Amino acid sequence: MAGAHALCMIPGPVEFDGDVLAAMSTPATSHVAPAFLETFGRALEKLRVVFAAPSAQPFVFAGSGTLAWDATAANLLEPGDAVLVVNTGIFADWFGECLGVYGGDVTQLRSSGFGDRPALGQIEEALAAKSYKMIVITQVDTSSGVLNDVKTIAALVSRVSPDTLIVVDGVCSVGGEALQQEAWGVDVALTASQKALGVPPGLAVLMVSQRALKRALDRTAKPTAYFVSFKKWHPIMQKYEARQPSYFATPPVQLIMALDTSLTHLVAAQADGAAASRRWEEHVAASATVKDALEAFGLTLVPTHRDHAAHTLTAVYYPEGIDGPALLKAISERGVVVAGGLFPGKAGTYFRIGHMNISATRPDLHHLETTIKAVKEALTSLGYAFPSK
Ligand SMILES: *Cc1c(COP(=O)(O)O)cnc(C)c1O
Repeated sequence: MAGAHALCMIPGPVEFDGDVLAAMSTPATSHVAPAFLETFGRALEKLRVVFAAPSAQPFVFAGSGTLAWDATAANLLEPGDAVLVVNTGIFADWFGECLGVYGGDVTQLRSSGFGDRPALGQIEEALAAKSYKMIVITQVDTSSGVLNDVKTIAALVSRVSPDTLIVVDGVCSVGGEALQQEAWGVDVALTASQKALGVPPGLAVLMVSQRALKRALDRTAKPTAYFVSFKKWHPIMQKYEARQPSYFATPPVQLIMALDTSLTHLVAAQADGAAASRRWEEHVAASATVKDALEAFGLTLVPTHRDHAAHTLTAVYYPEGIDGPALLKAISERGVVVAGGLFPGKAGTYFRIGHMNISATRPDLHHLETTIKAVKEALTSLGYAFPSK
């Protein structure tokens, strides 16, 4: 399998550790078998460590990251509630669209242009102009490769609008970018299994503060969803953590086994449990390796400043005179899969390289070198003139 496998360097699904895949290769197991209660309970405990949210409530659902948007909307919004979305790319538009489906009154706060992010002053002005029930921050927007400064924005919100729930879309960041959910005052951080958590696609993960959980459990408006109801799942998640059998809907048993295994690696990178992770530094270093190499090739990054470029992926423009689809094909012929652009109107002008989980943390696997080499050879094969030093 390894020989024929093309290296998957997209912003999720990422490359998976062999022991994570092996964890899924198990015989049929009851979702209430004692051994599985232990696995699921342990995984929930480890999620709290990874999110640095010791008193928050984890939820793990069968689904993808998008389902975590639905869960946020259905449990925490009532029709007409105002939501401010800090927009750094298309995922913010889509999350906003989802919130609107559940009756959210959504304001998109946009940056000056693609690759930029709204300034702190802009966010402060928006919060002063209107009372918002919720603010949504995409930590890493996968369409632009832009990183938001969640810590600083959350501190601002806590100061000027303390009742506003702070929601972080961490689908392309949790496990890769620095996040200290509880210390930063983030109410909901959500992610999906197939990105920096390093688990095959199929799990939506939410970490919900006690304040947000209370709002969801106290919510009296007519329910707008069934499967993702926190009221339904809260006792189930509590039972799993207590290693007691319970049932609302069947959890994806094998994926949760894989999650538990991957979380073991993530937690091991956190020396004192809830504090900083070595993985964050490893992703910073991996990101610099990729970005430095591409810039040395004469390519231009999509983020307008390095200091707001994500560390989990790199979005980079095609150089002038190089045909995008031809470049992606030439890279894939060299055994590496990267992703095209995603932002409407700009998609044909840039491509994206994901460098998360083992691709960032296991230099011995040489994923970054292999990818950089493939890009270089592909550019050469298309007659690209590299800058002379
Ligand atoms: C991938 C992604 C999503 C959507 O997750 P799916 O698992 O594809 O549904 C949402 N937000 C961000 C920032 C993402 O990168």
